[in-house]
Amino acid sequence: MKPKLFIIALLLLLLVAYSCKHPDKANQVQQQDTLQPRQAWALVVHGGAGNLREDVLDSALAKQYRQSLTEALRVGGKILQDGGTAVDVVETVIRIMEDNPLFNAGKGAVFSHDGKNELDASIMDGSTMQAGAVAGVTDIKNPISAARAVMMNSPHVMLSGAGASQFAREQGLEMVPPGYFHTDRRWNELQELLKKENHGTVGCVALDKQGNLAAGTSTGGMANKKYNRIGDSPVIGAGTYANNATCAISCTGHGEYFIRYAVAHDISALMEYKELPLQEAAELVVMDKLVKAGGEGGVIGVDRMGNITMTFNTPGMFRAFATAAGREGVFVFSEK
Ligand code: ASP
Repeated sequence: MKPKLFIIALLLLLLVAYSCKHPDKANQVQQQDTLQPRQAWALVVHGGAGNLREDVLDSALAKQYRQSLTEALRVGGKILQDGGTAVDVVETVIRIMEDNPLFNAGKGAVFSHDGKNELDASIMDGSTMQAGAVAGVTDIKNPISAARAVMMNSPHVMLSGAGASQFAREQGLEMVPPGYFHTDRRWNELQELLKKENHGTVGCVALDKQGNLAAGTSTGGMANKKYNRIGDSPVIGAGTYANNATCAISCTGHGEYFIRYAVAHDISALMEYKELPLQEAAELVVMDKLVKAGGEGGVIGVDRMGNITMTFNTPGMFRAFATAAGREGVFVFSEK
């Protein structure tokens, strides 16, 4: 063997021996920027998870959902492409979905047992670990903006009910009479299927060009809810979480389970402490822990490299993603 070849072979042998002895190190290296170029930006949205099967959801309605998701995605993608911040995108995209009566958030929210619309929303900035939320509000047109105002302009994280409304008014946000949220579709739904599941929450997670992550979620909660019930969506760590060191997550599903299993934070913690990749962490929580517990739903997530996840244990989830590299997808059922 020529001396040059011999040296190369020796070096390769040493490298293999080193990574066998230090598997963690080898694993870490794989997750690093050198081997996997970071996406300049990435965006994922959801419009709720549930019993979404082709034989259940009318195809014309499925088309409307797809169009609405695409619309929200386009607006968000453009802001990120132009250098906008992850937090701005999350708020803007969720506002669009709140104004769309197709979704169970803002206008189009489901009714409570008492025939009211009580809305929950939260937002988190992964670059500062700041967060804001409103719960059980009845007259704020865009709860996600109120959540952001709580994050930016108050010393608190979560405001509820009348106090949240007073704060939103003081912040100059648009207020509406509670009747604004009434849609015949949701009202009839309540009358007809008081006991049936009803998902349609919205959420958005984003990685911006500065490398910052943000997450937000907004909902009318579970149809037929009683006693001022509050779900996971406004609970930081349950329905929403963002940390620049790990990921941004927004959840949808049976909120009681997502609160008890601290789903959004659990995914982040698995990445932080066990160094699991985002997809593996999401699958462990959603497809294993939640399934065993009986908690139905799903999550969307993005990590600091721009890897995304859209993981759900229900038949379907309204979902869409876009990345700087031009990859894009809009889905409703179990299709990949
Ligand atoms: N997670 C929401 C709640 O429990 C509902 C949903 O996502 O559909 O309030």
